[in-house]
Amino acid sequence: MKVTEHLARADRPLISFEIIPPLRGGNVRDLLALIDQLVEHRPPFIDITSHPAEVIYDETPQGIRRRIKRKRPGTLGLCALIQNKYDLDAVPHVLCQGFTREETEDFLIELKYLGIDNVLAVRGDDSGYRKPLRDGRSANAYALDLVEQIAAMNAGRYLEDSLLDAEPTSFCIGIGGYPEKHFEAPNLETDVRWARAKIDAGAEYIVTQMFFDNGHYFRYVESCRAAGIEAPIVPGLKILTTRKQITSIPRTFHVDIPPPLADEAAAAKPERVRDVGIEWALAQTRELLERGVPAVHFYVMLDAGAVGELMARLDL
Ligand SMILES: Cc1cc2nc3c(=O)[nH]c(=O)nc-3n(C[C@H](O)[C@H](O)[C@H](O)COP(=O)(O)OP(=O)(O)OC[C@H]3O[C@@H](n4cnc5c(N)ncnc54)[C@H](O)[C@@H]3O)c2cc1C
Repeated sequence: MKVTEHLARADRPLISFEIIPPLRGGNVRDLLALIDQLVEHRPPFIDITSHPAEVIYDETPQGIRRRIKRKRPGTLGLCALIQNKYDLDAVPHVLCQGFTREETEDFLIELKYLGIDNVLAVRGDDSGYRKPLRDGRSANAYALDLVEQIAAMNAGRYLEDSLLDAEPTSFCIGIGGYPEKHFEAPNLETDVRWARAKIDAGAEYIVTQMFFDNGHYFRYVESCRAAGIEAPIVPGLKILTTRKQITSIPRTFHVDIPPPLADEAAAAKPERVRDVGIEWALAQTRELLERGVPAVHFYVMLDAGAVGELMARLDL
């Protein structure tokens, strides 16, 4: 079922999750245990992130040489598992960065074959690297281009006009949104304008970047509504669990940690930081649900422990 249908039909507060494929060498049993834990909370859907291969550059006498340090597979396999073993809607993330449009088309064909109805279209962080495009291949620069490609497939238009069995897909397309503005955008208004362009191109809902102050989310929703975006905007939350995250989260995701949370986590014993984070996220979740958000989306990644404790206390 499509994410938008889940949101429209909800007769209870919806809590969805996002997980990341484990790095190679990860254990499938741990992964199944993680999904088993999440399934207990009856999520309407689970997102699975996607990542381009990680590369490093060596300086050699012949010039700069690019090497792949680590491949990042797993999204497709995890989606197949969630969708078919757990009979739960999987939402794979589809990226611009690191993939040609031809590879993206193949990925989407695989997803359709697996019975997956949803995708979240994001650009990926710009590493500055541009894959060489041989034999007429092409790449999506922005998530808007990617949304247009998926919407074209939904209308039965594939990259090659003469492709056989080019049946229309019917993906429900989600996009990312940034309550504290995307770090490259000159201002929130411009960023929201691009979000509107993606909605006009066929995206049907927005999931936000994590935020630790609900005020950012409410103001973002207002800006989107003022810009004519009527689509559901699902708030994304992360539970702070380690002291290191007080600095790593702002550095990586370009979001603020409010002083009361940062101070309390910094003052807590390392093993108590998690409790501080759970308490904070619980208060955020309660307020968001009270204010009637379409769902709350948790960035769980590979550890369902903290969100499990939060869910037990939320007692939905
Ligand atoms: C819910 C969510 C899930 C995510 N999942 C993943 C994941 O699985 N894997 C991963 O690697 N990353 C993921 N990300 C991170 C995301 O890829 C990065 O934040 C990336 O830098 C921006 O992605 P975007 O889709 O918002 O990009 P875009 O919409 O392409 O926007 C990027 C920047 O360019 C501007 N812009 C947008 N369109 C245009 C245009 N046409 N012309 C000029 N400027 C434009 C925007 O204002 C913004 O500043 C996720 C983010 C969110 C919020």
